[in-house]
Amino acid sequence: MKQTRAVRIAVEQLLRQRDGPLTRELAQVSGEFGLGKVPAKMKPETVTRMICGFCSTGCSLDAHLQDGKAVNLSPTADYPVNLGMACPKGWEALAPLSASNRATHPLLKNSAGTFESVSWGEALQAFASRFKSIQANYGRASVAWLGSGQIVTEELALLGALGKFGMGMIHGDGNTRQCMATAVAAYKESFGFDAPPFTYEDFEFSDVIVLVGSNLCIAHPIMWQRVLANKNNPAIVVIDPRRTETAAAATHHFALAPKSDLVLLYGLANILIERRWINERYIELHTTGFAEFCEQIRSFTPELAARETGISEERLLEFAQLIHSGRNVSFWWTMGVNQGHEATLTAQAIINLALLTGNMGRPGTGANSITGQCNAMGSRLFSNTTNLFGGRDFKNPSHRHEVAHLLKIDPTLIPSEDSWAYDEIVKGIEEDKIKGLWIIGTNPSHSWIDQSAFQKVLARLEFLVVQDMYADTETAKHADLILPAAGWGEKEGTFINSERRFGVVKNVSSAPGAALADFYIFKLIAHYWGCEEMFKEWTSPAAAFQIIKGLSAGRPCDVTGIEDYSMLDTEGGIQWPWRAREGDMKPNSQRRLFEDGVYFRDDGKARFVAGVPQAVPEPVSKEYPFWLLTGRGTSAQWHTQTRTAQSSILRRLYPRSAYAEINPRDATRLNITHGESISVASRRGEIVVRAFVTGTVALGQIFIPMHYGVTNRLTLAVFDPKSRQPSYKACAVSVEAVPSHGGGRTRQRRVSLETSR
Ligand code: SF4
Repeated sequence: MKQTRAVRIAVEQLLRQRDGPLTRELAQVSGEFGLGKVPAKMKPETVTRMICGFCSTGCSLDAHLQDGKAVNLSPTADYPVNLGMACPKGWEALAPLSASNRATHPLLKNSAGTFESVSWGEALQAFASRFKSIQANYGRASVAWLGSGQIVTEELALLGALGKFGMGMIHGDGNTRQCMATAVAAYKESFGFDAPPFTYEDFEFSDVIVLVGSNLCIAHPIMWQRVLANKNNPAIVVIDPRRTETAAAATHHFALAPKSDLVLLYGLANILIERRWINERYIELHTTGFAEFCEQIRSFTPELAARETGISEERLLEFAQLIHSGRNVSFWWTMGVNQGHEATLTAQAIINLALLTGNMGRPGTGANSITGQCNAMGSRLFSNTTNLFGGRDFKNPSHRHEVAHLLKIDPTLIPSEDSWAYDEIVKGIEEDKIKGLWIIGTNPSHSWIDQSAFQKVLARLEFLVVQDMYADTETAKHADLILPAAGWGEKEGTFINSERRFGVVKNVSSAPGAALADFYIFKLIAHYWGCEEMFKEWTSPAAAFQIIKGLSAGRPCDVTGIEDYSMLDTEGGIQWPWRAREGDMKPNSQRRLFEDGVYFRDDGKARFVAGVPQAVPEPVSKEYPFWLLTGRGTSAQWHTQTRTAQSSILRRLYPRSAYAEINPRDATRLNITHGESISVASRRGEIVVRAFVTGTVALGQIFIPMHYGVTNRLTLAVFDPKSRQPSYKACAVSVEAVPSHGGGRTRQRRVSLETSR
């Protein structure tokens, strides 16, 4: 095949990566993680700053370079996000790059079912011919992709354009469906655009901070440091069934019954309205739907709310008084809200509280969704999955024409229908509507809900491609073709953090073997697919950034005023929007949305949205009498541990085996002692984990961290109807001791103790 410009670019990149041995010397970080300095003996020659590739906080890390390669990392002292701090993952972000299990060459499964190392040319010819043949047999929608909030915005955008406009796919979604889809759906309906309004300084300006379903201490430890930097002696209120690390450090903890959060929030709104503890002027000037909202929540009396949540009427009143007495009240939520069976209504119930008390648009206020992955926001705005580029609508002809004009493509190439959501793609495979799947930078065999069912679904595919840094993930094992990808630190581009701040990622390390940055893999695929002409202006991530700027023009996320990567570097990141002209504001000013009270809906007003709470889909029963709660385990673990398990330092900071927190009284009743093996079973499967006997969980509840491979053998595949986000947080399980000779259910279905990741 003729070697075109796209191929040459990729080959050049490959050669650049092979220009010398990797000489990383990991700094030995002493037991104290937090503020720290590079050991003097390292004497780094140069330092360049870049954004961390784990969570959505978007901390800046200084990469210390020798001969152009990163040999150490330390937190950037003057970056407005982390102010010289990093969590353990940030300190150890280089470790996953040098792991021995990195994918180094394309691997194609042969007819005997064994992987063989092949060239990029052979791999991508197989990619194109197999997917094209599936599309020819079953239609263009029969091939889909599942992407990731872990890759840079430029890669997300190129994948979105390639998949839908170049390869003709209709269905593509990302793992942001597992974390942020609810916030997107809630904001769009309430504010008119997916627009988290806050800036991190708001943590420091509030006098009341309400955290709903958020274990900020360990999930977003640097944001928690910002809370601790608040000089107003704020009331810190945590709503969580479990006494999490954050709840233990808070001034107030409301340990509600699992998934009774919507009733609690409606009950609070009812008290605030009944007592006229509301901001009538704000409601009148800046909102719609208040009268209807009052009607909808009228029945959520303190009595009812107390009965459903397990929180007494007196404490509910105390909570409402806290909100009423605060001058600047901020409401924050994460996965405890987003991953529920009625998640969008719950997020909107939080938004309603901020609106009705007028806690919007001022320092220290806001209805603030904290994102999960490092580039969840990039995925939300520029991945072309749930929204057409820039938060546009696939179904809107003028939006399609606008994007077609900007990208200089035929408008008919843009699908006029929405993509199926992640769970609908999975269902499409189950129903043989999707026969080819391309998974990029995510590990759903571990992370998707009801894991055993998902793995059976994968077996139905005619061709599965996995593009990842590692060839041995739980998902890669099912692949027909593995494409080796460069990781964070081995490529460049931008991430957008939780407070809407663009920041730069840099190439400071060599990808191993023939692994390539996802951007160049996409370019090569365009070449082998025969559509590279469409992407001739996408010559590099920096060029793609200019295209993204064009796509953002005139949208709420307009960033046409950001010149290039060096401007982002100089300014310490820039929050969207940042247009060409922003009056007297400086690009690096801390900016929050809706300071003028004008929202993105057509009438300029925010909307109260409410509905009817639904029963929990799988209540506890005689056979399955415990609630299973899931969540993050420690700040040293990231999601499926694909990367964090590669660091020997991080591995020492969390338990190697999966464990279940169980209340001491339940443990005594079931004859379970701390540290011994217990069986946990749901209607989907059974696992054996260690018992962690602790008062942090209430009677009748257990908690298992999400990071272990076994957890999702238990979870129930239920989805929020508006956002299609999975409900990971509550299902019914049984718990019993495992006698040394085996017993109970485990006699029939023995599952060994999880000791890997
Ligand atoms: Fe900061 Fe998150 Fe990276 Fe930790 S993982 S250093 S909190 S961005």
